[in-house]
Amino acid sequence: MIFRQLFDRETCTYTYLLADETSKEAILIDPVYEQVDRHTRLIEELGPSLLYLVDTHVHADHITGSGVLRERMGAQTVLSSGAGVDCADRNAHHGDQLSFGTLSAEIRHTPGHTDSCISIVVRESGHTRVLTGDALFVRGCGRTDFQQGNASTLYASVHDQIFSLPDDTEVYPGHDYNGSLMSTVREEKVFNPRLKLSISESQFMEIMKNLNLPYPKRIKEALPANMACGKPPLENTSTGV
Ligand code: FE
Repeated sequence: MIFRQLFDRETCTYTYLLADETSKEAILIDPVYEQVDRHTRLIEELGPSLLYLVDTHVHADHITGSGVLRERMGAQTVLSSGAGVDCADRNAHHGDQLSFGTLSAEIRHTPGHTDSCISIVVRESGHTRVLTGDALFVRGCGRTDFQQGNASTLYASVHDQIFSLPDDTEVYPGHDYNGSLMSTVREEKVFNPRLKLSISESQFMEIMKNLNLPYPKRIKEALPANMACGKPPLENTSTGV
């Protein structure tokens, strides 16, 4: 499998390109609007045909590149069925499989950061990867204090849908703010300061309640744009009153 992890420095977002090397069919996960030219160039260089553009959730911190890349490449945009994004070509449900060549991406519903977050599991000859979006980060997790966030729900999602995977499953997050690229299920079960197995649900809820994070600075721009598959927001026509 061709597996590429791409980084947007501005928002610390990871985008992933996965392609079957034989059929050259590919999926792109969480593309970033400002990076669509770079994404396009890489796909053209490596040569796969893009079947799906998957957003793991309706992002509040950046605008998706899915809508623009759909126009350029003819791929289908995919979001969780619960996201309510009418312009998505395909609504993903828990348990769905997105096939690309001989490979397949399994959709797992992992709400808690938002109520429609998904994680994506890809297996390849005994090697399992999970792309966790904003459910689980390396030694952290997505915030739960806005956008239908719910710490109790996130705790259950991580334990039931991610920690239930084999210990050597590689974990690829939707963001990293500290320079890490990836982890494993075993590492996160042991070392994640919020979600390691020794932390109870009530302890996790207490941790999440006391994070005191700043309000996401791009949320007012990003949410409406992402509900429209990443179309750029209209010019500000305010008269300044
Ligand atoms: Fe997010």
